[in-house]
Amino acid sequence: MRCEILAVGTEILLGDIVNTNAQYISKRLSEEGIFVYHQSVIGDNPERLKQAYELAFSRADLVITTGGLGPTKDDLTKEIAFEYFGMRSVCHEESLNQIKEYFEKINKPLGKTNEKQAYFPEEAIVLKNNNGTAPGCILEEAGKVLVMLPGPPREMKAMFEESVIPYLRKYSKEILVSKILRVIGVGESAAAELIGDLIDNENPTVAPYAKEGEMIFRITARAESEEVANKLIAPVEAEIRSILGDNIYGEGETTLEDVLGSILVGKGLTIATAESCTGGMVAARLINYPGISASILEGAVTYSNEAKIRRLGVKEETLNSFGAVSEETAIEMAKGIASTSGADIGIATTGIAGPGGGTEEKPVGLVYIAVYYNNEVEVRKLNLSGNRQRVRERAATAVIDMVRRKLL
Ligand code: ATP
Ligand code: MG
Repeated sequence: MRCEILAVGTEILLGDIVNTNAQYISKRLSEEGIFVYHQSVIGDNPERLKQAYELAFSRADLVITTGGLGPTKDDLTKEIAFEYFGMRSVCHEESLNQIKEYFEKINKPLGKTNEKQAYFPEEAIVLKNNNGTAPGCILEEAGKVLVMLPGPPREMKAMFEESVIPYLRKYSKEILVSKILRVIGVGESAAAELIGDLIDNENPTVAPYAKEGEMIFRITARAESEEVANKLIAPVEAEIRSILGDNIYGEGETTLEDVLGSILVGKGLTIATAESCTGGMVAARLINYPGISASILEGAVTYSNEAKIRRLGVKEETLNSFGAVSEETAIEMAKGIASTSGADIGIATTGIAGPGGGTEEKPVGLVYIAVYYNNEVEVRKLNLSGNRQRVRERAATAVIDMVRRKLL
């Protein structure tokens, strides 16, 4: 079944509101195994609305509209649809009574225009609105299905879940089940190359996405039940895991800091951070993990040379001979924060986030990250691209991942 979503409303075209309805419906339909091929937005204009129905039904069997079911003159979604299907509308008594009750409940008089909301063709399946006045409806004709939902997201979502999903389940016997694997430390093209032919797999499909310095692999199976879908996913997941190994840090919505946080707490290890260019981002990310209090001791933002000397015990001569952005300084920072805080693990970042401050020898994006653990310091040199914010975020991600790998 091919679906198209039509969001009706000039407000959306003007950019006054974001079309969150389409996003919600798309996401839910994909979970139900129904493909959305197009999303469109149309203003409150009868001519263009009619064209939109024509176009949508020329390429989809299921069209879902949101918005324009209200009582005012510019609410045309229903009227134009009835015209398009050549159906005459009559008063739907049950809906009219519900609208009346609704107005009694909120203590407001029922306007003549509100009655319009209760008009539907006799062949329509009318959908009750438990959160507002405008009922929705489903029209079926010659294998084409039109579902019309109200615009306010709260009303739309409830109606979609209560009435539309059960209706659609009659049509689609298959469901989609997805599993997400989160990958770090492998570039997009390298990862795609590594998993090779798996990309061409049909059921399950394997789709890679690049996302803020990470990669996500979504494995999606289509089957008659969740159990069967999971059985299809398992061998493909195992293959991807064998190829990417420790580069896979988690599943689903897990974050890198959740993974590190649980390792730290699980092993009973303490940690402290000394940050220069990341300015507290590493500590802030670690603290995103609930329960990290058992592990994190402190985070120092040691931006100036003086702070690096005073707070961390970095040697003045190190700074003078190698500079603040250097392997040597990063090492002393990591050692210094561990020893002064008494933590098992010390993290350090120092780099040139830009846009200024770069030289030929030390360009913008050069960052050193260091991790002290078990009397040893490991240091890495990064050449990061992007603006200031991105360089800082990527450096923070890299050092969190460095600790994770050390503790695996
Ligand atoms: P009403 O009875 O409130 O007039 P309606 O079904 O006619 O409902 P609209 O008038 O189109 O719906 O929209 C009502 C409100 O719902 C909008 O002001 C907006 O806040 C929200 N809304 C409409 N369409 C969308 C959409 N696609 N995404 C998110 N919000 C929307
Ligand atoms: Mg309206």
